[in-house]
Amino acid sequence: MSIATARVGSNIAFIKYWGVADETLNIPLSNSISMTLADAHTTTTVAWDDTGVLERDVFVLDGATQSTARSQRLTRHLDILRDLAGVEWRAWVTSENNFPTASGIASSASGFAALTVAGCAALGLELDATRLSAIARRSSGSASRSLFGGFVEWAQGDSDETSVAFPLHGPEHWDLWDVVAVVSGEEKKLSSAGGHLLAKTSPLLDGRIAQVDGWLAEVRAAIAERDLHRLGPVIELDALAMHSVMMTSTPSLLYWQPGTLEILQAVRRWREEDGLAVYFTIDAGPNVHLICEAETALEVETRLGSLRSVERIITSRPGPGPQLLDEHLI
Ligand code: ADP
Repeated sequence: MSIATARVGSNIAFIKYWGVADETLNIPLSNSISMTLADAHTTTTVAWDDTGVLERDVFVLDGATQSTARSQRLTRHLDILRDLAGVEWRAWVTSENNFPTASGIASSASGFAALTVAGCAALGLELDATRLSAIARRSSGSASRSLFGGFVEWAQGDSDETSVAFPLHGPEHWDLWDVVAVVSGEEKKLSSAGGHLLAKTSPLLDGRIAQVDGWLAEVRAAIAERDLHRLGPVIELDALAMHSVMMTSTPSLLYWQPGTLEILQAVRRWREEDGLAVYFTIDAGPNVHLICEAETALEVETRLGSLRSVERIITSRPGPGPQLLDEHLI
C-alpha cells in the first residue's frame, strides 16, 4: 500500500473566480487573488491499493463514508492522478475539514489541493507546486491557489502550463486575519462547480469581467503596501459584483440569508460610526468573511458574538503552503 497524508489550508479570495472560459480544462474568465488560511484546513490521507483488489475508490469525509454519487468528483480527480502515474489502482481516501463543508469557506479548494498533494506523494510522483496547482485546478479552480502559502494569484492562462497559481508574498508579509461569521453551516444546494456554469447567463457578467483587471491591480498594490483601507473597498466591490452575477443568473443563485445582510450592514456601521478597520467579502455561500489586521480581530469577534444570526466564528491567520504529515488518518 502506498500512503501519504497532506494538510492544506483553504483560501479566501479577494478578487474572485466566477465563471469558466473552458469547461474541460477549467480555465477561468480572469485572474484571481487570495490569501491561504492557516486555521481552516483539510487533512487528507490517500492509500493506493497496489494489490489491485479494491474495485472502486472509497471516500470517507468527516467520518462519513460517501455514496458512489458523492464520490464521483473525487474519482474523476483520482483518474487524473492514475493517468499521470500509469496505474489503475483504486484508493482509500479519508479526509477531514476542520470547518463546515460546502458552505462558502472553500472546502473544495483545500479538499482538492490536499487530495492532489497526498495522492501524488503516495504515487511517488515528484511534482513541483506549479504542476500540482495545474492538476488541482482541473477539479476545483480555487484549489489551484491553495498550493501556495500567504498571498497568491492564479493566472487565467489558457492551458495546463499557463493556468496556474503563483505566490505574491509569503504568510509573514502581512498579519491580515479572516474572521468568518458562520450564519449557516448547512451544505449549499448547488455546488460552486455547478454555479460557474451558470455565470454566462447573467447580463452582469461582462460588466464584472470588464472591471476586474483594474481591481486586480489595486489589490496587488494594496497587499504589497499592507494597506487595508486600499484593499477593503475593492474586495467589498468585487464580492458584491460576483453575488450580483450569481443573483442575476438563470436560474438565479441567491446564497444570502437574512443573517448575511445583518452582518454586511453591521460591518459598514462599525467602520463608518466607530472607525473600526474591517471590511467584508463573501464566497459562494451565506457566510461572511471579515478581513482585518491582527490587532482588530478580537474586537471584531466580540462584536460578531453579539449578533443574533452568528452561529459560529472561525478566525484564521495567513497560512503556509501544503504540508506532508507523518501521521495518517487511516
Ligand atoms: P465550498 O464553498 O465549501 O468550496 P463547494 O460546493 O464549492 O463548496 O464544494 C464542496 C464540494 O467539494 C463537496 O461537495 C465535495 O465534493 C468537495 N469537497 C469538500 N471537502 C472535500 C474534501 N475534504 N476532500 C475532497 N473533496 C471535498
